[in-house]
Amino acid sequence: MRERLQLLAHLPSQTADGRTVQLAANISSVKELDLVFKNNASGVGLFRTEFLYMDRSTFPEEEEQFAVYREVAEQLQGKRAVIRTLDIGGDKPLDYLELPEEDNPSLGYRAIRVMLDRKDLFKTQLRAILRASHYGNVRIMYPMIASLDELRKANEMLEEAKSELRTEGIPFREEIEVGIMIELPAAVMISDSLAREVDFFSIGTNDLVQYVLAVDRMNETVAHLYDPFHPAILQMLRITVDSARRHGTHVSVCGEMAGDIRALPLWIALDVSELSMSVQSILRVKNSLLQTRHSDGPKILGDLVRCTTSKEMMDALNPYVHTDL
Ligand code: PEP
Ligand code: MG
Repeated sequence: MRERLQLLAHLPSQTADGRTVQLAANISSVKELDLVFKNNASGVGLFRTEFLYMDRSTFPEEEEQFAVYREVAEQLQGKRAVIRTLDIGGDKPLDYLELPEEDNPSLGYRAIRVMLDRKDLFKTQLRAILRASHYGNVRIMYPMIASLDELRKANEMLEEAKSELRTEGIPFREEIEVGIMIELPAAVMISDSLAREVDFFSIGTNDLVQYVLAVDRMNETVAHLYDPFHPAILQMLRITVDSARRHGTHVSVCGEMAGDIRALPLWIALDVSELSMSVQSILRVKNSLLQTRHSDGPKILGDLVRCTTSKEMMDALNPYVHTDL
Protein backbone atom coordinates (compact mmCIF):
# COMPACT_ATOMS: atom_id res chain seq x y z
CA MET A 1 0.00 0.00 0.00
CA ARG A 2 2.72 2.43 1.08
CA GLU A 3 4.74 1.60 -2.07
CA ARG A 4 1.74 2.15 -4.31
CA LEU A 5 1.02 5.45 -2.64
CA GLN A 6 4.65 6.43 -3.08
CA LEU A 7 4.21 6.18 -6.85
CA LEU A 8 1.81 9.13 -6.63
CA ALA A 9 4.40 11.46 -5.14
CA HIS A 10 5.46 12.91 -8.46
CA LEU A 11 2.05 13.19 -10.09
CA PRO A 12 0.63 16.72 -10.24
CA SER A 13 -1.40 17.57 -7.17
CA GLN A 14 -4.78 18.11 -8.76
CA THR A 15 -8.37 16.90 -9.01
CA ALA A 16 -9.47 14.50 -11.77
CA ASP A 17 -10.67 17.55 -13.75
CA GLY A 18 -7.44 19.48 -13.37
CA ARG A 19 -7.86 21.86 -10.42
CA THR A 20 -4.59 22.24 -8.50
CA VAL A 21 -4.81 21.84 -4.73
CA GLN A 22 -1.48 22.33 -3.04
CA LEU A 23 -0.68 19.73 -0.43
CA ALA A 24 1.80 21.18 2.03
CA ALA A 25 3.35 19.77 5.17
CA ASN A 26 3.08 20.57 8.86
CA ILE A 27 6.46 20.10 10.49
CA SER A 28 8.02 20.78 13.84
CA SER A 29 11.67 20.03 13.12
CA VAL A 30 14.22 20.13 10.32
CA LYS A 31 14.40 16.33 10.45
CA GLU A 32 10.94 16.07 8.92
CA LEU A 33 12.09 17.78 5.73
CA ASP A 34 13.26 14.43 4.34
CA LEU A 35 9.66 13.24 4.22
CA VAL A 36 8.51 16.59 2.88
CA PHE A 37 10.70 15.96 -0.17
CA LYS A 38 10.01 12.24 -0.39
CA ASN A 39 6.27 12.91 -0.51
CA ASN A 40 6.76 15.93 -2.75
CA ALA A 41 4.83 18.37 -0.57
CA SER A 42 4.22 21.79 -2.12
CA GLY A 43 6.05 23.40 0.81
CA VAL A 44 5.71 23.78 4.56
CA GLY A 45 2.32 25.25 5.42
CA LEU A 46 2.95 25.20 9.15
CA PHE A 47 6.26 25.10 10.98
CA ARG A 48 5.37 24.65 14.66
CA THR A 49 8.30 26.43 16.26
CA GLU A 50 7.40 25.56 19.85
CA PHE A 51 9.36 22.33 19.56
CA LEU A 52 12.54 24.40 19.28
CA TYR A 53 11.73 25.77 22.71
CA MET A 54 10.83 22.46 24.36
CA ASP A 55 13.03 19.87 26.10
CA ARG A 56 15.64 22.38 27.23
CA SER A 57 16.18 24.76 30.11
CA THR A 58 16.51 28.20 28.47
CA PHE A 59 15.02 30.08 25.55
CA PRO A 60 16.81 29.55 22.22
CA GLU A 61 18.85 32.60 21.23
CA GLU A 62 18.36 34.47 17.97
CA GLU A 63 21.38 32.80 16.28
CA GLU A 64 20.17 29.32 17.12
CA GLN A 65 16.66 30.03 15.83
CA PHE A 66 18.01 31.76 12.74
CA ALA A 67 20.14 28.70 11.90
CA VAL A 68 17.08 26.43 12.02
CA TYR A 69 14.75 28.73 10.06
CA ARG A 70 17.45 29.40 7.50
CA GLU A 71 18.03 25.70 6.99
CA VAL A 72 14.31 25.13 6.41
CA ALA A 73 14.19 28.08 4.00
CA GLU A 74 17.25 26.96 2.06
CA GLN A 75 16.32 23.31 1.85
CA LEU A 76 12.89 24.20 0.49
CA GLN A 77 14.52 26.01 -2.45
CA GLY A 78 11.83 28.55 -3.13
CA LYS A 79 8.90 26.47 -1.92
CA ARG A 80 6.84 28.17 0.76
CA ALA A 81 7.86 27.94 4.43
CA VAL A 82 5.22 29.32 6.77
CA ILE A 83 6.85 29.84 10.15
CA ARG A 84 4.44 30.22 13.04
CA THR A 85 5.51 32.32 15.99
CA LEU A 86 5.60 30.64 19.37
CA ASP A 87 2.34 28.98 20.37
CA ILE A 88 3.05 27.92 23.96
CA GLY A 89 0.66 27.56 26.86
CA GLY A 90 -2.56 25.58 26.74
CA ASP A 91 -1.58 22.09 25.58
CA LYS A 92 2.08 23.12 25.04
CA PRO A 93 3.77 24.17 28.32
CA LEU A 94 7.45 25.16 28.71
CA ASP A 95 9.29 23.98 31.83
CA TYR A 96 11.38 27.14 32.18
CA LEU A 97 8.66 29.72 31.46
CA GLU A 98 6.59 30.21 34.54
CA LEU A 99 3.02 30.71 33.55
CA PRO A 100 0.30 31.25 36.14
CA GLU A 101 -1.61 28.22 37.40
CA GLU A 102 -4.83 28.26 35.45
CA ASP A 103 -8.13 26.45 35.87
CA ASN A 104 -8.66 26.67 32.16
CA PRO A 105 -5.35 26.80 30.26
CA SER A 106 -6.96 26.61 26.81
CA LEU A 107 -8.75 29.84 27.58
CA GLY A 108 -5.79 31.30 29.35
CA TYR A 109 -2.39 32.81 28.89
CA ARG A 110 -1.00 31.31 25.70
CA ALA A 111 0.48 31.92 22.27
CA ILE A 112 0.25 35.49 20.95
CA ARG A 113 -1.10 36.63 24.33
CA VAL A 114 2.21 35.72 25.97
CA MET A 115 4.33 37.00 23.09
CA LEU A 116 2.72 40.44 23.08
CA ASP A 117 3.66 40.75 26.77
CA ARG A 118 7.13 39.28 26.34
CA LYS A 119 8.51 41.65 23.77
CA ASP A 120 12.02 40.27 24.35
CA LEU A 121 11.01 36.76 23.31
CA PHE A 122 8.81 37.89 20.46
CA LYS A 123 11.36 40.26 18.95
CA THR A 124 14.10 37.64 19.13
CA GLN A 125 11.96 35.21 17.21
CA LEU A 126 10.76 37.78 14.67
CA ARG A 127 14.34 38.86 13.98
CA ALA A 128 15.38 35.24 13.44
CA ILE A 129 12.50 34.61 11.03
CA LEU A 130 13.12 37.86 9.16
CA ARG A 131 16.79 37.03 8.76
CA ALA A 132 15.89 33.59 7.38
CA SER A 133 13.56 35.25 4.85
CA HIS A 134 16.66 36.36 2.95
CA TYR A 135 17.40 32.71 2.15
CA GLY A 136 14.08 31.42 0.86
CA ASN A 137 10.34 31.81 0.56
CA VAL A 138 9.59 32.45 4.24
CA ARG A 139 6.29 33.74 5.61
CA ILE A 140 5.34 34.68 9.16
CA MET A 141 2.20 33.47 10.85
CA TYR A 142 0.73 34.52 14.22
CA PRO A 143 -1.33 31.96 16.20
CA MET A 144 -4.46 32.50 18.32
CA ILE A 145 -5.34 35.94 16.98
CA ALA A 146 -8.67 37.12 18.44
CA SER A 147 -8.73 40.79 17.49
CA LEU A 148 -7.41 43.41 15.10
CA ASP A 149 -5.68 44.96 18.05
CA GLU A 150 -3.54 41.87 18.61
CA LEU A 151 -2.70 41.64 14.92
CA ARG A 152 -1.68 45.30 14.80
CA LYS A 153 0.43 45.03 17.96
CA ALA A 154 2.19 41.97 16.56
CA ASN A 155 2.84 43.85 13.32
CA GLU A 156 4.21 46.82 15.27
CA MET A 157 6.79 44.51 16.80
CA LEU A 158 7.54 43.10 13.38
CA GLU A 159 8.14 46.63 12.10
CA GLU A 160 10.46 47.29 15.05
CA ALA A 161 12.40 44.12 14.30
CA LYS A 162 12.65 45.12 10.63
CA SER A 163 13.85 48.58 11.52
CA GLU A 164 16.56 47.17 13.80
CA LEU A 165 17.81 44.84 11.10
CA ARG A 166 17.86 47.69 8.58
CA THR A 167 19.95 49.81 10.93
CA GLU A 168 22.31 46.89 11.51
CA GLY A 169 22.61 46.27 7.76
CA ILE A 170 21.31 42.69 8.09
CA PRO A 171 19.44 41.49 5.00
CA PHE A 172 15.82 40.27 5.07
CA ARG A 173 12.86 40.24 2.70
CA GLU A 174 11.16 43.65 3.10
CA GLU A 175 7.90 42.41 1.60
CA ILE A 176 7.68 39.24 3.68
CA GLU A 177 4.12 37.92 3.73
CA VAL A 178 2.34 37.94 7.07
CA GLY A 179 -0.66 35.81 7.93
CA ILE A 180 -2.67 34.58 10.87
CA MET A 181 -4.18 31.36 12.10
CA ILE A 182 -7.94 31.42 12.07
CA GLU A 183 -8.65 29.24 15.06
CA LEU A 184 -10.88 31.27 17.34
CA PRO A 185 -14.59 31.89 16.67
CA ALA A 186 -13.92 35.60 17.25
CA ALA A 187 -11.40 35.62 14.41
CA VAL A 188 -13.96 33.97 12.13
CA MET A 189 -16.59 36.54 13.01
CA ILE A 190 -14.25 39.47 12.27
CA SER A 191 -12.52 37.69 9.38
CA ASP A 192 -13.71 40.38 6.97
CA SER A 193 -11.68 43.02 8.86
CA LEU A 194 -8.73 40.71 9.43
CA ALA A 195 -8.60 39.77 5.74
CA ARG A 196 -7.94 43.41 4.84
CA GLU A 197 -4.78 43.49 6.93
CA VAL A 198 -3.05 40.16 6.27
CA ASP A 199 -1.66 38.32 3.26
CA PHE A 200 -3.08 34.94 4.20
CA PHE A 201 -5.28 32.97 6.55
CA SER A 202 -4.49 29.48 7.71
CA ILE A 203 -7.47 27.79 9.31
CA GLY A 204 -6.46 25.88 12.43
CA THR A 205 -9.31 23.43 12.71
CA ASN A 206 -7.89 21.71 15.81
CA ASP A 207 -8.44 24.73 17.99
CA LEU A 208 -11.37 26.05 16.00
CA VAL A 209 -13.36 22.87 16.68
CA GLN A 210 -12.35 23.02 20.35
CA TYR A 211 -13.51 26.61 20.76
CA VAL A 212 -16.64 26.50 18.61
CA LEU A 213 -17.94 23.40 20.36
CA ALA A 214 -16.54 24.25 23.83
CA VAL A 215 -14.87 20.83 23.91
CA ASP A 216 -11.37 20.72 25.38
CA ARG A 217 -9.26 18.92 22.75
CA MET A 218 -7.13 17.34 25.52
CA ASN A 219 -10.01 16.03 27.63
CA GLU A 220 -10.80 12.38 26.96
CA THR A 221 -14.07 12.52 28.87
CA VAL A 222 -15.53 14.78 26.20
CA ALA A 223 -13.52 13.45 23.23
CA HIS A 224 -16.67 11.96 21.67
CA LEU A 225 -18.10 15.49 21.45
CA TYR A 226 -15.08 16.78 19.54
CA ASP A 227 -16.70 16.74 16.10
CA PRO A 228 -15.13 18.46 13.07
CA PHE A 229 -18.25 17.58 11.07
CA HIS A 230 -20.64 19.47 13.32
CA PRO A 231 -22.63 21.80 11.02
CA ALA A 232 -21.49 24.79 13.12
CA ILE A 233 -17.94 24.17 11.91
CA LEU A 234 -19.04 24.30 8.29
CA GLN A 235 -20.67 27.68 8.92
CA MET A 236 -17.45 28.97 10.47
CA LEU A 237 -15.42 27.74 7.53
CA ARG A 238 -17.78 29.34 5.02
CA ILE A 239 -17.62 32.71 6.74
CA THR A 240 -13.81 32.57 6.79
CA VAL A 241 -13.40 31.53 3.16
CA ASP A 242 -15.96 34.10 1.95
CA SER A 243 -14.22 36.92 3.85
CA ALA A 244 -10.85 35.94 2.46
CA ARG A 245 -12.21 35.75 -1.07
CA ARG A 246 -13.76 39.22 -0.85
CA HIS A 247 -10.33 40.69 -0.15
CA GLY A 248 -8.15 38.44 -2.28
CA THR A 249 -6.55 36.92 0.83
CA HIS A 250 -5.04 33.46 0.35
CA VAL A 251 -6.60 30.69 2.47
CA SER A 252 -5.12 27.41 3.53
CA VAL A 253 -6.10 24.89 6.18
CA CYS A 254 -3.55 23.44 8.60
CA GLY A 255 -5.52 21.58 11.28
CA GLU A 256 -6.00 17.81 11.29
CA MET A 257 -9.08 18.16 9.10
CA ALA A 258 -6.79 19.13 6.22
CA GLY A 259 -5.33 15.63 6.21
CA ASP A 260 -8.60 13.78 6.80
CA ILE A 261 -9.79 12.31 3.52
CA ARG A 262 -13.38 12.33 4.78
CA ALA A 263 -13.15 16.14 4.75
CA LEU A 264 -11.55 16.51 1.32
CA PRO A 265 -14.88 16.95 -0.55
CA LEU A 266 -15.69 19.73 1.92
CA TRP A 267 -12.51 21.60 0.97
CA ILE A 268 -13.35 21.09 -2.69
CA ALA A 269 -16.86 22.42 -2.00
CA LEU A 270 -15.34 25.51 -0.36
CA ASP A 271 -12.79 25.78 -3.19
CA VAL A 272 -9.81 25.83 -0.82
CA SER A 273 -6.63 25.52 -2.86
CA GLU A 274 -4.09 24.64 -0.17
CA LEU A 275 -4.14 22.02 2.56
CA SER A 276 -1.30 21.60 5.02
CA MET A 277 -1.06 18.35 6.95
CA SER A 278 1.25 15.91 8.67
CA VAL A 279 3.75 14.52 6.16
CA GLN A 280 2.33 11.03 6.66
CA SER A 281 -1.08 12.08 5.31
CA ILE A 282 0.02 13.75 2.09
CA LEU A 283 -0.01 10.80 -0.28
CA ARG A 284 -3.28 9.40 1.04
CA VAL A 285 -4.95 12.77 0.52
CA LYS A 286 -3.35 13.05 -2.91
CA ASN A 287 -4.71 9.66 -3.92
CA SER A 288 -8.18 10.85 -2.98
CA LEU A 289 -7.71 14.24 -4.62
CA LEU A 290 -6.74 12.66 -7.94
CA GLN A 291 -10.15 10.93 -8.00
CA THR A 292 -12.21 13.93 -6.86
CA ARG A 293 -13.92 16.27 -9.31
CA HIS A 294 -13.65 20.00 -8.69
CA SER A 295 -16.81 20.45 -10.76
CA ASP A 296 -18.75 18.55 -8.05
CA GLY A 297 -17.94 21.37 -5.58
CA PRO A 298 -21.14 23.44 -5.95
CA LYS A 299 -23.36 20.34 -5.67
CA ILE A 300 -21.48 19.15 -2.55
CA LEU A 301 -21.75 22.59 -0.96
CA GLY A 302 -25.46 22.74 -1.76
CA ASP A 303 -25.95 19.38 -0.04
CA LEU A 304 -23.81 20.30 2.97
CA VAL A 305 -25.53 23.57 3.77
CA ARG A 306 -28.82 21.74 4.12
CA CYS A 307 -27.39 19.33 6.70
CA THR A 308 -28.48 19.86 10.28
CA THR A 309 -26.48 17.12 12.01
CA SER A 310 -23.01 15.69 11.85
CA LYS A 311 -24.42 12.36 10.63
CA GLU A 312 -26.11 14.11 7.72
CA MET A 313 -22.85 15.92 6.94
CA MET A 314 -20.88 12.66 6.86
CA ASP A 315 -23.56 11.02 4.70
CA ALA A 316 -23.46 13.94 2.26
CA LEU A 317 -19.65 13.81 2.01
CA ASN A 318 -19.32 10.04 1.86
CA PRO A 319 -20.15 9.47 -1.85
CA TYR A 320 -17.26 11.79 -2.75
CA VAL A 321 -14.64 10.17 -0.52
CA HIS A 322 -12.16 8.05 -2.48
CA THR A 323 -9.98 5.51 -0.75
CA ASP A 324 -9.21 3.08 -3.62
CA LEU A 325 -5.72 3.07 -4.95
C1 PEP B 1 -4.79 24.08 14.93
O1 PEP B 1 -5.16 24.56 16.00
O2 PEP B 1 -5.56 23.58 14.09
C2 PEP B 1 -3.36 24.02 14.58
C3 PEP B 1 -2.95 23.64 13.40
O3 PEP B 1 -2.46 24.37 15.54
P1 PEP B 1 -2.05 23.44 16.78
O4 PEP B 1 -2.60 22.07 16.52
O5 PEP B 1 -0.57 23.51 16.80
O6 PEP B 1 -2.71 24.14 17.91
MG1 MG C 1 -3.89 25.80 17.24
